[in-house]
Amino acid sequence: MRRIEAGSRYTYLPEGCKLCRRGSKLVLFITGICNNSCFYCPVSREKIRKDVVFANERPVKSLDDVIEELKMMDAEGIAITGGEPLLKLERVREYLKMAKKLDLHVHLYTSLPAGEKLKKLNGLDEIRFHPPELKNPEKYEESIRVAKKLGMDAGFEIPAIRYEEKIVEIVNRNDAFLNVNQLEVSESNWEKLAERYRVVDYYVDDSETERIVKKYEKAEKFHYCSARFKDVAQFRRRLIRMAMNHPEFYEVTRDGTLVCIRIEGNEEKLKTAEKILSESGEEFVRFENCIETTPELDEEIREALKSEGLRLMIVERYPTYNRLVLELMEI
Ligand code: SF4
Repeated sequence: MRRIEAGSRYTYLPEGCKLCRRGSKLVLFITGICNNSCFYCPVSREKIRKDVVFANERPVKSLDDVIEELKMMDAEGIAITGGEPLLKLERVREYLKMAKKLDLHVHLYTSLPAGEKLKKLNGLDEIRFHPPELKNPEKYEESIRVAKKLGMDAGFEIPAIRYEEKIVEIVNRNDAFLNVNQLEVSESNWEKLAERYRVVDYYVDDSETERIVKKYEKAEKFHYCSARFKDVAQFRRRLIRMAMNHPEFYEVTRDGTLVCIRIEGNEEKLKTAEKILSESGEEFVRFENCIETTPELDEEIREALKSEGLRLMIVERYPTYNRLVLELMEI
């Protein structure tokens, strides 16, 4: 068993997980529609049961949005998820075609025992079956066989809600992999998780999870992914990749966040700010409702902007599409 960061470990790491670990996998949320209602479902209220597409945090209206996001993070692969992606089969096929043109690895999560439908998923490299609430895992065995015959890597990916012997038997019988995830708390599932488990921070307690995960180690191709691993390794590394693709004036922290000066004002005032910055030879990025520029901005220029009635702030934010602000200080 190889141990990696934050309590995660494996005897076998599927290619999709290797890319996730490097922070180089784009998460493509194909649809929020799903016919199940698992008590631990982490899908946010903004997405669940809605037919929306997201590439990481970016809402998708066309293939170009996905391509833009792929470029932003120098992605090496795509994880197709939902909701239930296979309820939108043609959409999945369209993205698979695009991914193959770009030579990207693709893995897909599904709660459906897709069987012969898998033949329509040309270009899919890896498939992970999730039996909702771990019920009836035997329904997926034939699909694992079909997927492997089609040349895909295949296995189960399940949350650590309890031990289910049949899952281990199926993967061992079919040379398939087993990924077990620590249960994570989200705004949509926390009440139901807290009723059943001891919740610490944003995940189900380590010792409770370990008790279940230990038993799954009987799977020959085994991988356990802790909630903290997703934070300290996967997410952080993705942020760093994205941060490095921003203009050089942004300061990049060790956590992959960006520090800059944000300038706010109405449209007319922002136009004045653009003029002042351009005339001073300062680099900046214009967004719809603000401007971002270097945190090293000269005192004289700061004062000139303020005297025009503009608001200046030092901001630390994610380098993601939604530009989530972590800290903000008026200057
Ligand atoms: S199958 Fe997945 S998306 Fe659907 S309810 Fe269960 S956890 Fe949520």
